[in-house]
Amino acid sequence: MAYEVLARKWRPQQFSDVLGQEHVSRTLTNAIEAKRVAHAYLFVGPRGTGKTSTARIMAKALNCEKGPTPTPCDACTTCREIMAGGSLDVIEIDGASNNGVEQVRDLRESVHYAPARAPHKIYIIDEVHMLSTQAFNALLKTLEEPPKHVKFIFATTEPQKVPATILSRCQRFDLRRIPLREIVAQLRRIAEDEQVEIDEAALLAIARGAEGGMRDAESALDQLISFRGKRIDESDVLAVFGIVSWSALEELVDAILRGDVAAAIRAASEMDEQGKDLQRLVVELIGQFRNLLIALHAPEAVEKMDLTEAQAEGLRVRSKEISAGRVLRVVDILTDLDSRMRQALSRRTLLETALIRCARAASMVTIDELIRQVAELRAALAEGSGMPAIQGGRTTQARVVEPQAADVEPPHATEPSAPAAAPGTPPLQVAERPVAPTPTSRNNEEETRYLLSHWREFTERVGAYASLVKGYLLDARPVSVVGDVVTIGFDPEFGENASKIDTLRNRNAIQKMLGTMLNRGARVDFVVLEQTAGHVPLPADHIVTPPERSRAERSAADMSGARAAEGSGQASSEYKGEKESRTLQEWLHEPAVSRVIDAFNGDIEDIRD
Ligand SMILES: [Zn+2]
Repeated sequence: MAYEVLARKWRPQQFSDVLGQEHVSRTLTNAIEAKRVAHAYLFVGPRGTGKTSTARIMAKALNCEKGPTPTPCDACTTCREIMAGGSLDVIEIDGASNNGVEQVRDLRESVHYAPARAPHKIYIIDEVHMLSTQAFNALLKTLEEPPKHVKFIFATTEPQKVPATILSRCQRFDLRRIPLREIVAQLRRIAEDEQVEIDEAALLAIARGAEGGMRDAESALDQLISFRGKRIDESDVLAVFGIVSWSALEELVDAILRGDVAAAIRAASEMDEQGKDLQRLVVELIGQFRNLLIALHAPEAVEKMDLTEAQAEGLRVRSKEISAGRVLRVVDILTDLDSRMRQALSRRTLLETALIRCARAASMVTIDELIRQVAELRAALAEGSGMPAIQGGRTTQARVVEPQAADVEPPHATEPSAPAAAPGTPPLQVAERPVAPTPTSRNNEEETRYLLSHWREFTERVGAYASLVKGYLLDARPVSVVGDVVTIGFDPEFGENASKIDTLRNRNAIQKMLGTMLNRGARVDFVVLEQTAGHVPLPADHIVTPPERSRAERSAADMSGARAAEGSGQASSEYKGEKESRTLQEWLHEPAVSRVIDAFNGDIEDIRD
C-alpha cells in the first residue's frame, strides 16, 4: 500500500472529527438540518486549524447522495469523489496561484452550467485574500446574484485583506487555534495507531512547535518518524522545530529571576549556536513569565495549563519566589523585544541586551517593596528599637561621622560658648524666651540649631545622593525637631517646592542624611512658612547659635526675616544656581521622568537636547 502522509490519512471526514472548532461545526450542522444553508461562507483562521477540511466536509454534506445531511456517508460515489479530490461539482481554487481576472471570468461563466451529478456546484477558494482587485470585482458580480445551485466557500488566514464588499456577502466563521491538549491527544491517537513510541514531553513539544495548527503537528510527526523511526523523544522534536527545551527555558527564567546576567547571556548564546529560533525563544519566554504570574495570582489555573505534572510543579515552586511587579517589568521588556526583533537583522544582539535589562529588572527592588520596607522600618522605630541611640551614643558618633565638623560646637553642648560667628556674618535674631525645656525637647532644640547651622553642608551631602533635592533644600530651612520628626520649612515664595520635594525617594535621601547628622532615626515633614520674606539666603556654615535661642517653631518667621535682611552679596550667585536647578526641577516633575528615577533609584545627571 502506498505511503500516505499522516495529515491526509487523518484528515477529518466528519464535522465531529474537526478538532477544536465545535462552535463552527455545530452552527453548520444546524444550518444543514434546518435547510438554511447560505450561498457563501468565509472561514477565517490560522493555518492548519481546519478551514479546508471543514469546507470539504461541508461540500460532502451538501452533495452526498443521502443528503443534504450533516453526517455525509463517505461511501457514495459523490462522497468518495470529493474525498479523492475528483468531483466535477466541487471546484477547489487556490487563490494564491489563480488570482487573475481570467480565472475568475472562467468561474463566472462556469457557474451558470448546472452541476454534473450532484445537487450543488461548490466553489472552494482557498487563500481568497490573494485574489487581485479585478478578480474580486468579477467575483462580486457572481456573489451578488448567484445561481441557486451554486455555493461558495472561501478560506483565508488574512481576512483584513478581503474587500468589505465580499465580506458582507458571506457568512463568516472564525476558526481558533487548536488548544495544545487537543493536539496532544490527537497526536497520541495517531502515534498509537502508527505504533510509534513517543513520550508526553515530546508530544507537548510538537504541539508547542505547531502553534495550534493540527496539520503542522501531523507533518512534524511524519518528519520525526522518518527521521527517528519508532522511538521519539523530546530532543528529536526540538531539533526538528528549532525550539528550545522546556528545561532550558526554565534555566533561562531562573537566571533572569536571580539577576544572573552572565548565565542568561551564556544560555542565549548557546541557543543561538544550536540554531534555535530566537524569535520563537522570546515568545516562549513571555509565555513562561505569563504562566508564573498566573500561578502566582490564580494557582488553581495551573491545573488547566497544557503542562506535564513536572512542568506544573516547577511553575508552582517558582511562583512562590517571585514578585509580580518584577515579573511584569520583565514581561514588558520581552514584549517590546518581540516586536523589535521582527524587523531586526541582528536578533542576537537585541536578545542579549534585553536579557541584561530583564535580569536587572528582575533583581531590582520595586517601589511597592520599598514602601513596604519603609513601613516596616517605621514600625520598628515606633517600637522603640532605635531610641537608645538618640539619647546615648550621639556625641561620639557624631564626631566619628563628621570629622570635618570638629571645629563646630556639637549640637549636644550643654552651654555653648559665646557666639563665634564668622566675621561679617550678622548673628541671628532670636526671640528671647528663656525656658527650661524637658531633656528631650532640649535635645530637639539643640538638634534644630545644629541642623540650621549646618544647613548648607546638609544640602551638599543630600545632594550627593539626590542632586535635585539640593535645589529645593537651598530655599528651605529646618524649622523644628519634635521627637523624631524634623520639620523643614519653605519660604512662601518657593512654597510649591514643599509638595514637589515630597516623594518617597527624596524623603528617603533626606531622612538618611538627617539620620547621619543627628545620629539617630529621623522622619521629615515639609511645611510652607507663613511669612513672605522674599528670597532667603543661606546662613554661613559656621554660625554657632546663642544658647538662649527660642523654640524653632516660633523663630521660623524670625529666621526668614533675618535672612532676608542678611547680606545680598550671595543672592546673585545663589539665584543662578537656582535657575539651573529650575530646569532640572521641571524635568523631575515630568511624571515619566520621576517614574524612571524612582524605578531605577537614580538621578538626573545631565540634560541634553
Ligand atoms: Zn455520501
